[in-house]
Amino acid sequence: MAKRGVMEVSLIFPPADIICKYYQGLIYLAARTCYSEKTPQQIWDEFLDEKVPAERVLKLIEHVVDSGHHSTIEHISFVFAISGVSRALSHQLVRHRIGVAFDQQSQRYVKYKEPLYVTPPSIEANAEALEEFERFRDTSEQVYHRFLEAGIPAEDARFVFPNAVTTNLIMTVNLRQLIHMAGLRLCILAQWEIRQMFKLIRKELMQADPYFGKLLVPKCVPLGYCNEKRNEDEHCKIRPHRNSVFRVWELYKQGKLREVPENEV
Ligand SMILES: Cc1cc2nc3c(=O)[nH]c(=O)nc-3n(C[C@H](O)[C@H](O)[C@H](O)COP(=O)(O)OP(=O)(O)OC[C@H]3O[C@@H](n4cnc5c(N)ncnc54)[C@H](O)[C@@H]3O)c2cc1C
Repeated sequence: MAKRGVMEVSLIFPPADIICKYYQGLIYLAARTCYSEKTPQQIWDEFLDEKVPAERVLKLIEHVVDSGHHSTIEHISFVFAISGVSRALSHQLVRHRIGVAFDQQSQRYVKYKEPLYVTPPSIEANAEALEEFERFRDTSEQVYHRFLEAGIPAEDARFVFPNAVTTNLIMTVNLRQLIHMAGLRLCILAQWEIRQMFKLIRKELMQADPYFGKLLVPKCVPLGYCNEKRNEDEHCKIRPHRNSVFRVWELYKQGKLREVPENEV
């Protein structure tokens, strides 16, 4: 049966031209204010009047991002519309508490006529499991509708819904927190559905301005190593595990590694 929710993620604000025109400038403004005798108003006017070369803006931004001066990237935010994701996903998403705001479709106020559901690929691929999943889903839905007809409030009838039922959210997040969230959720150890959602968030941002899209990577990328216990066997090879890095470092300190000439690397 249909009843399939389709995940959609849209960057709804600001529009791409605003991001491209002002967002690097806002980070530059924040950083430059720290290091300059000029007022923020003067710095911003210089930026708007294009008196600051683009390379200079970029150089300063890269400096503050690389050295962890990350309050400067809290000044820019993005608003995403997210729909067709499971309640299993939304529960994980709203665990993020800092620098992010959510509003979510209410199962108290919405009486669902035709709820939609997310089916995990592992269940989809198993005919027997899929049949059982759909039977359970349909039974819970029938009970939900019977409860509503019996006058039970939607906020109570919803207790029979599975985690698979879909939901919609608006998420407003500043760049610092978006990088943090993507770092956790793009990791291959993150749950598949939320990982999928962050891939769509990255795609949206890449389309708006690749400079910001490229900042959304698994946390091991900026860190330089993986710190996940579940990857000690290094089945994910994006970066070496911390244990390997420290093992090599120990050998290096003991003089057991020879320097490899530049042209042999
Ligand atoms: C792969 C994976 C598996 C997970 N498994 C589980 C699980 O089994 N059970 C479970 O309950 N949760 C689980 N989580 C959720 C996880 O524990 C966090 O609650 C969630 O990722 C939110 O991230 P955060 O703690 O960085 O909070 P955010 O709100 O994103 O905070 C951002 C950063 O701000 C700082 N910060 C935020 N709040 C505080 C505070 N109160 N005090 C001090 N510093 C703060 C921290 O540096 C934090 O990293 C899992 C997450 C992932 C990615």
